[in-house]
Amino acid sequence: MKIAFHGAARNVTGSKHLVTLNNGTKILLDCGMFQGMGQETDEMNSEFGFDAAEVNFLILSHAHIDHSGLIPRLIAQGFKGVIFGTQATKELSKILLLDSAKIQAGDLKYENKKRQQRGLPPEKALYEEEDVLSTMEYFVAVDYQNPTRLTDGVTLQFIDAGHIIGSASVNLTIVEDGKTTQLCFSGDVGQYGDLLLRSPQEFPQADYILLESTYGDRLHKDAQPTEEAFLQVILKACVEKKGKVIIPAFSVGRTQELLYILNNLDL
Ligand SMILES: [Zn+2]
Repeated sequence: MKIAFHGAARNVTGSKHLVTLNNGTKILLDCGMFQGMGQETDEMNSEFGFDAAEVNFLILSHAHIDHSGLIPRLIAQGFKGVIFGTQATKELSKILLLDSAKIQAGDLKYENKKRQQRGLPPEKALYEEEDVLSTMEYFVAVDYQNPTRLTDGVTLQFIDAGHIIGSASVNLTIVEDGKTTQLCFSGDVGQYGDLLLRSPQEFPQADYILLESTYGDRLHKDAQPTEEAFLQVILKACVEKKGKVIIPAFSVGRTQELLYILNNLDL
């Protein structure tokens, strides 16, 4: 077995890890979009660095765009296999990929206006709404814990990673040439004691673990004092000064948590 990292290496987006078995079977773990602005990011998103048509299976750890955002492009470039994710990941991916197509269309409209003024040909989006809708036909939903056979000698098991709804660690049992290898791809791992989600569940023992680390060198704050500080900010800005609080927050995960905390605050 060989593993090649085509994203989320030396940066924290574009998660894409290609497992190639000795018999040639190719399993892609996540198919994320590199996020950022500018030509360099555009170029990173336009080439996979492998042949999409040769990939047999795509296993999706969760729906965040930095893990799922290039799936429609994978299909446009020839992928004809099966996409595995939990039911919630499947449903949320549709919402997020449609949103991604809409954002790209909006950005391009502005960008192409500028290009036209400079006499340059228009650029195309990575994918459009209809590409997302046809992508959904490739999805097969798999329950947490439930071992699922992909092909001879390859079994998949999703374990709840407690990161966003539907998120999972991907656990593969691979038997090749009489040898069994346990491979775990953690996906993004959530925190213990989250307000809305289950805590990350233990995954099976593994021979190899692929683990991305964004906040690996930081300790998360205890949530209780943060809620109290949040309440004080809101009281001061909205009640005392009659102003507004504008909160930049991730649209999936953080925003739901913020709304939940706001609803529970003792105002
Ligand atoms: Zn994530």
